[in-house]
Amino acid sequence: MKSLKQFNTFNLDVKCKELLFLATEDDYARFQKISTNKILIGGGSDILLTEDYHGIVGITQNKGIEIDENSSHYIVTALAGTRWHELVTTMVNKGIGGSENLALIPGTCGAAPVQNIGAYGLEFNQLCDHINVIDKEGNNISISNEQCDFGYRTSNFKTKWKNNYIITSVSLKLSKSWQPLLDYAPLFSLKNKKNLTPKEVYDEVIRARKNKLPDPAVLGNAGSFFKNPIVSAEFFNKLFKQYPNIPFYKQDNERYKIPAGWLIDQCGLKGFCIGDAKVYEKQALVIVNKGQATPLDIVNLAKYIISSVKVKFEIDLEPEIRIYGSNGEISLGQL
Ligand code: FAD
Ligand code: NAP
Repeated sequence: MKSLKQFNTFNLDVKCKELLFLATEDDYARFQKISTNKILIGGGSDILLTEDYHGIVGITQNKGIEIDENSSHYIVTALAGTRWHELVTTMVNKGIGGSENLALIPGTCGAAPVQNIGAYGLEFNQLCDHINVIDKEGNNISISNEQCDFGYRTSNFKTKWKNNYIITSVSLKLSKSWQPLLDYAPLFSLKNKKNLTPKEVYDEVIRARKNKLPDPAVLGNAGSFFKNPIVSAEFFNKLFKQYPNIPFYKQDNERYKIPAGWLIDQCGLKGFCIGDAKVYEKQALVIVNKGQATPLDIVNLAKYIISSVKVKFEIDLEPEIRIYGSNGEISLGQL
């Protein structure tokens, strides 16, 4: 059995039967043809491995960034195993704007479309031109942005195409007429700044994130454990009467997004621990491994959070991260 400790940012010492490093398109095509149980992992920053895995794990390792341009855009292609933050940093250092709000998100470029990564008012799909994948028969296919059905922390890669494709590279289209996106409170201070550059926004995003989010290299975690719930106007109005200070963000479709971290905090759970798993004090949406947490500590804490929020607010929190058991992906309810 091979340890996956260094391949999941929760730092859990879970094992698998076999570990393969995938560095070329041929490696990916061969991996696709394996018919036994298998999981693909990039940076392991959006997964919870709950027990030893009775199958093969492939780690994406092909790295590289290519930049092309036309009169209006840069077309940037990054191989799947390239670190997302390295891609953003490369863009910003070249003075190419557009991706800076997504600075410091851990993980790989290949995983970015899977949950349509987002932060500070920008989502992957706003940058995506197309995605190159290998299908189950080993064919290379190019998939357009529109085909992916991107949504809030979701895409077809997470739903109807689950496990069908390996993403081998992503191509972004970054406009040469850069417009900063400064709609999130930590970026307000930049609003009146003259001659603002992508690098200044990038620096501010990194500063805000470092202030609030745990560094997985220091404290194991997988970012937001749960999605922010989006509720109907009718339900929201009922809630608002009871909790007039509830933070909310109205969506285009007359629905309301409520920060899950606030709901968890209102249940008095900041700093709450089960075993060595803890609700992070600075952002209750994050569960951290204090050092010796077992997968069961994390699962039990997640379930405790879900039931506390349900009892207090009648809201069902849904995990954002992908959860794996001994034979593949599972739901928290199965544990
Ligand atoms: P993994 O965890 O390795 O995999 C995630 C899923 O994608 C798995 O199901 C895997 O099988 C699949 N997958 C991975 N690579 C491929 C591929 N090449 N082809 C097909 N499927 C693939 N997320 C955000 O959206 N916004 C944030 O601001 C954010 N901040 C974070 C902060 C911290 C501190 C941490 C720890 C996490 C954060 N995340 C955030 C979550 C996570 O970083 C992202 O979801 C990231 O895209 C996951 O990348 P990964 O390579 O680690 O994916
Ligand atoms: P925050 O600023 O404390 O905000 C809490 C929540 O409110 C966020 O999740 C965000 O939703 C929402 N929000 C805040 N301002 C908003 C606005 N102007 N319009 C619409 N929604 C708004 O969040 P944070 O924890 O410090 O994180 C900052 C950003 O990084 C957020 O975008 C967050 O999603 C992202 N992040 C994601 C992860 C992850 O694992 N997915 C981990 C850490 C940080 P959204 O989530 O929809 O943006």
